[in-house]
Amino acid sequence: MQVLVYGAGQLAQMMYLDGAALGINVMAVDVNNNTVVHPVSKSPLDCTLEQAIELADALTVEFEHVPETLLEQAQASGKLYPGIEAILVGADRVREKQLLSGLDIPNCPYQIVDDLAQLDECVARLGERLIIKASRDGYDGYGQWRLKAASDLPALKTQLANLDLQAVPLVVEKMLNFDREVSLIGARSKSGEVVVYPLAENLHHEGQLHVSVAPATNSTEALTEQACDIFTKLVNGMDYVGVLAVELFQCGDELLVNELAPRVHNSGHWSQAGSPTSQFENNLRAVLDLPLGLAVNTGGEASVSAMINIIGCDDHKLALLGIGGTHLHWYGKTVRPKRKMGHINVTASDYAALGEKLSALAGYLSLEHFPQLQEEAARLA
Ligand code: ATP
Ligand code: MG
Ligand code: MG
Repeated sequence: MQVLVYGAGQLAQMMYLDGAALGINVMAVDVNNNTVVHPVSKSPLDCTLEQAIELADALTVEFEHVPETLLEQAQASGKLYPGIEAILVGADRVREKQLLSGLDIPNCPYQIVDDLAQLDECVARLGERLIIKASRDGYDGYGQWRLKAASDLPALKTQLANLDLQAVPLVVEKMLNFDREVSLIGARSKSGEVVVYPLAENLHHEGQLHVSVAPATNSTEALTEQACDIFTKLVNGMDYVGVLAVELFQCGDELLVNELAPRVHNSGHWSQAGSPTSQFENNLRAVLDLPLGLAVNTGGEASVSAMINIIGCDDHKLALLGIGGTHLHWYGKTVRPKRKMGHINVTASDYAALGEKLSALAGYLSLEHFPQLQEEAARLA
C-alpha cells in the first residue's frame, strides 16, 4: 500500500520509517515546489504529484499549513484523510474557535479582531494580560504577541500596524494562569474505530515544546475521562479520520482546549519507544482503514516515557544511548536557531527512574539548549 504525505519534514520521515516495517510505502510532497520526494533523503521521486495522488491508497498531511489549492486537489481524489474541513480547522484559529464553540467544548476566552481599534475592547473584556495570535500560519509560538499591561497597547498597535487583518484576523486570548499543559493524542480509523493514548504532560519554553512526559503525572481518572470526552466530541463532530492531537490547558480540575493539530504531533513522539504502536503507525493504519494498534504505555521497563526535543543545536551524541531505555531520532536537518533537529525518547519503569535517567542525560547535552531538563529530572525523581 502507498500513502502520500503533504509536507516532507520529520513527521513524514517518521511515518515512512514505521510504514516500511509494514510494507507500506510513504511518499512525501514538498509543498514549496509541489514535487514528490523520498521522506528521508528528500530526493525527488520519478513521478509527478498527479501520478502520486493516483498511485496512493490514502493521502494525509504532516502539517496543517498546506496551500489550500493543494488541499482542494487532494480532497478531489476522495482519498484525503483527515478531510479538508478538519485540516482547515487546524490551520485557521477562527474556524477552530467556531468549531469548539459549536461543539460546546471549553476553550480559552477570546475575541476575534479584524481592526486594531478592537484591541481596547479586548482589554476591557478579557483583561490587560493578553496573547494575540495570527489566525493563520503560526506555529512554535511564531505569529504571536503578548500584552502584559494596558500601557503597552499603543506600542503593540504600532507593531501590528502592517498586518492585513481583513485577510488574516487575529484571535486575541486572555493570558491564562493554567496549572500545566497536557495533550491528548488519538486516532480514528475510516471505519470509526477510536484509540487514545494516555495524556501527555508538556513543558514549553518561549512558545515551543521542549519536554513531554506520558502518562502525565497525577492524571486522575476524571481528568482522563474529560480529555477522552473532548476527543470523542471532536472526532465525531468532524467525522475525523487519522491521528488528531488536542492541546489542552489544565486549570484546577478543568481542561480547556488550546488548539488542535489535525496530524501526528510532537507531544506524541514518546509513543515510538513507549507504546506498542507509535502515533505514526496508527496514523497510517487509520487512513488505510486497517485495525488500530494498542495506544497504551507498554509497561515493564517502558511504563512511563519522556520525550526531549533537541532544538537549535547539533547535540546528537550517540554515547547517550548508554543510558538504558534511551532512543535518539535525528532528522538530518541543517542547524538553525529554534529549529527542531531531533528528539530523545526515554522509557523507565516508574517516574523516579525516569527522573534519574533524565538527570544522567543532562550530562551529555549542552544545557543551554535544554532549559527545563534538570528541573524536570528533579521533579520526577
Ligand atoms: P504549536 O507549535 O503548538 O502549533 P502555536 O504557535 O500554534 O504552537 P499555541 O499552541 O497557541 O501556538 O501557543 C504556544 C504556547 O503559548 C502554548 O503551548 C502555551 O504555552 C502558550 N499559550 C498559548 N495561548 C495561551 C494562553 N491563552 N494563555 C497562556 N499561555 C498561552
Ligand atoms: Mg499550533
Ligand atoms: Mg500549540
